[in-house]
Amino acid sequence: MKVSAAAATDIGLVREGNEDSYLVDEPLFAVADGMGGHRGGEVASQLALETVEKLFQKGTGDLAEQVQEANRAVFERSVEDRKVAGMGTTLTAALVEGDRIRLAHVGDSRAYLLRDGELRRLTEDHTLVHRMVTEGEISEEEAEAHPQRSVLTRALGVDMVVDVDDDVVQVRSGDRLLLCTDGLTGMVSEEEIKEMLQGIADPSEAAERLVRRANEAGGVDNITVVVLDFSDDGRAQDGPAQDGEAPVARPKAPAEKPAQAPRRRAFPWMRMAIWAGAAVAVIVLGLVGLRAYLDTQWYVGVSEGNVAVYRGIPAEVAGFRLHHVVVETTIPAEVAESLALYRDRLDQGITADDREAANAIVEQIRNDVEAAQRNGPGP
Ligand code: MN
Repeated sequence: MKVSAAAATDIGLVREGNEDSYLVDEPLFAVADGMGGHRGGEVASQLALETVEKLFQKGTGDLAEQVQEANRAVFERSVEDRKVAGMGTTLTAALVEGDRIRLAHVGDSRAYLLRDGELRRLTEDHTLVHRMVTEGEISEEEAEAHPQRSVLTRALGVDMVVDVDDDVVQVRSGDRLLLCTDGLTGMVSEEEIKEMLQGIADPSEAAERLVRRANEAGGVDNITVVVLDFSDDGRAQDGPAQDGEAPVARPKAPAEKPAQAPRRRAFPWMRMAIWAGAAVAVIVLGLVGLRAYLDTQWYVGVSEGNVAVYRGIPAEVAGFRLHHVVVETTIPAEVAESLALYRDRLDQGITADDREAANAIVEQIRNDVEAAQRNGPGP
């Protein structure tokens, strides 16, 4: 399947900055709508898309896993850097694999498929009003005008893990895919979006005109649009582009052989040098091994007064720390340690089998702390 892609983004008429980002890097396409004041939103949406793109280039995980990693990257940055604390972003990504599109989605940006004059929404909004609609509390029409229609129930970067919706959609020649942020769908009706997508053949013109239409309707938010057109490229079978031969790592040429030991007589200093060299090699190998071992160890402890996830072991040897902070949370250690369950344990470090287990411990602590705060001070 051949893809022609175009994108357009605009600050709109009201906002002071454009916190939307998009990615057009065939076969990977995405939009992201960042939030969080003082450039936080811009950082969040860009960092999320950069992370997905980088992992895709490296071939690490599938699309949903790459989005999960992007969540972690945004979350970690927001914890590390006070200037962007609390930032987050939506992310709607499409990966074209032959005649299928893999989708990954979090938030209220959307993907639509136009086929035979029908516009089908492929994603579900993770918003409070959508939840109210599905629970029958309000109607679709009421949701569109609801004052809290932009309140998200899910976003990237606000917690250590996020639920990522994923889906696979079959495409055929003539299909058109639209990825867009709520700056478009909040201003322009689906009926009108459909008519414009149908009526404007050129994808870049369609993208530009959709953005212009949102501005004509008020442009109260940043607007971002990616349009993909699918057409047959004449080949019967169409697999992913990277189906070819994978590069094979070649063993390196053998290193130069060390000079032969002098045959006739070995000077005593030379033998000592050889022994000293061997001892250094043993120490270096030991340190490399230790380092590799530490990289597999995780624990939850305290950093700067907050509960934190560490890599390594909670110990020091001859002044060398055998750990480093990976994530410092916003949970005050003092509050956690006031709970009997964690008293004295955080100081010593609660060890975990892996990163996921460490994250789970932090989540448990967060829940326990929140429960304790809800129930008021204990006895
Ligand atoms: Mn928006």
